Amino acid sequence: MSAARVLLYLATAAGLGLLARTLIRGPVPLWIALGAFGLYVCIAAAGVFKPQLRMYADLIWRGPTDRGEVVLTFDDGPQPEHTRRILSILDRAKVKATFFVIGAKVEKHPEVAAEIVRKGHMIGIHGYEHDRLLALRSATTIMKDLELAQRAVVDATGEVPMVFRPPVGVTSPRIDEAVRKMGLVMVAWSVKGIDGVAGARPDQVAGRVATRVRPGSIILLHDALERSEQEPASVAALPKILDAISAKGLRVVELKAWLPELNSERKAETSSS
Ligand SMILES: [Zn+2]
Repeated sequence: MSAARVLLYLATAAGLGLLARTLIRGPVPLWIALGAFGLYVCIAAAGVFKPQLRMYADLIWRGPTDRGEVVLTFDDGPQPEHTRRILSILDRAKVKATFFVIGAKVEKHPEVAAEIVRKGHMIGIHGYEHDRLLALRSATTIMKDLELAQRAVVDATGEVPMVFRPPVGVTSPRIDEAVRKMGLVMVAWSVKGIDGVAGARPDQVAGRVATRVRPGSIILLHDALERSEQEPASVAALPKILDAISAKGLRVVELKAWLPELNSERKAETSSS
């Protein structure tokens, strides 16, 4: 069990203790009640917005830190022009990446999804609609969304995607339940390019990744913007990012090369808790 989940359980127990004390011995001072409530909200919210804490869901967010390997991931595609530009930069550098695609976009551009797989990259799903509130839906609704995304990828590429990145990185116990039932592996990140927002500058994106990348990093970039056809900053930043990775003595490996090791670590952790 993750330390963050233990903290959440302890905070819940402390909150219930405070409630019991109020019922038995009368109300606590208002500042204590408000302070405790505020602290609880902060702890619970940290788990929502920082999936790496693994408070609500079991996931992978970085790889082994004992060798000089990093993984590149791209979200929110496919988009014919930008995804293909990313693919040709990766081809030239002889580097394989993982693309977390949106099911509805795969249905629109199946040939681009097929090209990703044909060029030897891994394909994962990022939801069918990129529903920003997916974490709040029921486990059944989440499963339907993920199954639609999975089917779109299978139809376009013939490959069954087994890795999933939640839209906007927000997790919940229901997402965890849906992912477990479907046998998917959830993947977050440890280094964010922040390249998928309007106004992102390629030099800033490359600089941010270059400063933060280290052994075991899972780097999050975009091969398309979520809702616009504008070019994401990663297209122009990618050559500089690849240079920075090499300059640090690191090399890009495939996510699937890490999965057996990371999965067995996760299983050992779950069974010991
Ligand atoms: Zn996204």
